[in-house]
Amino acid sequence: MAARLLDGTAVGQAIRQELAAGVAAFTARAGRPPRLALVLVGDDPASHLYVNSKMKSAGESGLLADIERLPATASLASLLTLIDRLNRSDVHDGILVQSPLPDAMGAGAEQRVFDALDPAKDVDGFHPVNVGKLVQNRAPFAACTPSGIIELLDRSGIRIAGARAVVIGRSDIVGKPMALLLLHRHATVTICHSRTADLPAVARGADILVAALGKAAFVTADFVKPGATVIDVGTTKIEDRATVERLFAPGSKRHQAFERRGSLVVGDVHPEVEQVAGALTPVPGGVGPLTIAMLLKNTLTAAETRFERS
Ligand code: NAP
Repeated sequence: MAARLLDGTAVGQAIRQELAAGVAAFTARAGRPPRLALVLVGDDPASHLYVNSKMKSAGESGLLADIERLPATASLASLLTLIDRLNRSDVHDGILVQSPLPDAMGAGAEQRVFDALDPAKDVDGFHPVNVGKLVQNRAPFAACTPSGIIELLDRSGIRIAGARAVVIGRSDIVGKPMALLLLHRHATVTICHSRTADLPAVARGADILVAALGKAAFVTADFVKPGATVIDVGTTKIEDRATVERLFAPGSKRHQAFERRGSLVVGDVHPEVEQVAGALTPVPGGVGPLTIAMLLKNTLTAAETRFERS
């Protein structure tokens, strides 16, 4: 039987609708809406798309958002100066620096930028203070993608406490915070990575399997226990016809989308998993919309906290 598809678009929309009431209440109390600064460095087309979509969603939920742009040639020092200005700004509650930064900024630039953020405005939850608080289960805001996944599981009636969870990927922005959030919700968690021995066997132990490795269709049916919940975080752009034809039947919706656009965004989970899993997030329309909803939620939380302290 085909897996139940977990509709991230609908859940993301529900979160944003609920948020709108909180935003309106804050605006009435504070005399201004919560405000988010989106920092965009360089010309990466995907980053432009992501930032514009965050901007649009913020507006729809009643938040103010503005884009602070720097050219691809900008130095790390100029970016840190901008972060310092936004940290000091009275009107900005949240700061998001869109990844990736241009290579020319040098290795370690992203971490330098996260370290420079005011933790109270770090709505992505990447500052070391917020990461430390996440370990202690007292973070004001956790990384948006993993916290969106927890919302999706909760709102889809999938039990986390007592479940065996396997997270494939150990990045600072997805894998590690995901594992911690599942642990805090009383799952028994295993974290896997590129050196995990017999990954399919470890993954098959999962009631909840989170694939966050960034390798198109890597997680095949033999990774999945029948009936398990599978969360597909991966987004890989495929432009090669042979790969698309290997994954999607001619005439299928995804194949048609490839014919129209000449490319396709594919998750980490192979389409055949739909026949084994009990529940599955689609790509697109699964995890992505939740990430934005949680970013806006974190911005409201940051605004409320700053207002109460002022
Ligand atoms: P990342 O920093 O590249 O981390 C990838 C992780 O996967 C690493 O821990 C790596 O292990 C592991 N990995 C790579 N190949 C593996 C293999 N063959 N077997 C087992 N583990 C393997 O990626 P990320 O930033 O976490 O992102 C992961 C994916 O999620 C990407 O496709 C990204 O685009 C997507 N994403 C989507 C959203 C969304 O909102 N939808 C948000 C964030 C990210 P090692 O540590 O051993 O190298």
